[in-house]
Amino acid sequence: MTIDLSRYQRQLIFSGLGEEGQRKLLSSRIVIVGCGATGSSLAMLLARAGAGFLRLIDRDFVEMNNLHRQMLFTEEDAEEGRPKAVAAAEHLRAANSDISIEPVVADFDAGNAIALTQDVDLILDGTDNFETRYLINDVALELGLPWIYTGVVASYGMGATIIPDGAARKVGREATPCLQCILGPEPPGGGPTCDTAGVIGPIVTLMASISAAEAMKLLSGRGEINRGMWMMDLWDNSFEQFGVAGRNPDCPACGRGERRFLTADAGSRSVSLCGRNAVQITNPGAQLSLPAIARRLQALGQVDVNEYLLRAHIDDYEITLFADGRAIIKGTEDPDLARSLYARYVGM
Ligand SMILES: [Zn+2]
Repeated sequence: MTIDLSRYQRQLIFSGLGEEGQRKLLSSRIVIVGCGATGSSLAMLLARAGAGFLRLIDRDFVEMNNLHRQMLFTEEDAEEGRPKAVAAAEHLRAANSDISIEPVVADFDAGNAIALTQDVDLILDGTDNFETRYLINDVALELGLPWIYTGVVASYGMGATIIPDGAARKVGREATPCLQCILGPEPPGGGPTCDTAGVIGPIVTLMASISAAEAMKLLSGRGEINRGMWMMDLWDNSFEQFGVAGRNPDCPACGRGERRFLTADAGSRSVSLCGRNAVQITNPGAQLSLPAIARRLQALGQVDVNEYLLRAHIDDYEITLFADGRAIIKGTEDPDLARSLYARYVGM
């Protein structure tokens, strides 16, 4: 098949990439885990640059208070409560209809992580928590895939390009330390989050831009990747890049081959969503008929349903339910209470 490269003309004449680099980019497959602020900016840059296939995974829906930093979404997306993955895919198809975009409305967890990543060339981190990043690290080591860490809070952000041993030959680059080599065997906890410390849009797009450029270098096989971490603060005007020590031979993940985050129990669970006054409940294996549940709940409060989700306002709670059984219950941070509300209104 002949591909019309004319839309990428300004990228082709950039000697760093060139036509050969562009063709490699067009044949590459990327998964972006999390499609909020960072993930949607990454998706936007790479869709427009001509990455051939993008899988966008996100568990959440667009809300009005996302719009100051989540560049892809509109007020209409928020009013209609559209899932971020679906809204992002639609907007990006309008920007580049030559590439393939697959939205996945799901929580990326140990149960689906391999299935969602085994057919791609690169994993990008658009998540907001270290638990999921440690899972991505395990998946990347297991499948021999490069991945790029991107974290943003308040006015600062950091990132790193991580190339496991098993990916080094594929991408023609030297292996790097893994995330556990750099940050230790346990996910750093208790730090500030976007929900407690806030976040501004410019740091999101800046960090996404650095990671998108790293992705373009990796996938095109051109240019020098950052070997170390980058860290920037737009309010303190600090721009730092620092090397990291080599691989840690005792690293549980890349040294001893443990995959603790990938083998974790992915069964039914409830997780308090930090700072959001909400709890997420998963109900693996469930297949719900949202219209049927909507009819049942209509007597109890206001219920709206669309093709992706159901939203019910009952007493002081807002229950958002997806067809795969997952729910986000707003109005409490107590997992037990959330589970009992779920059992009462949805059933489990
Ligand atoms: Zn390691």
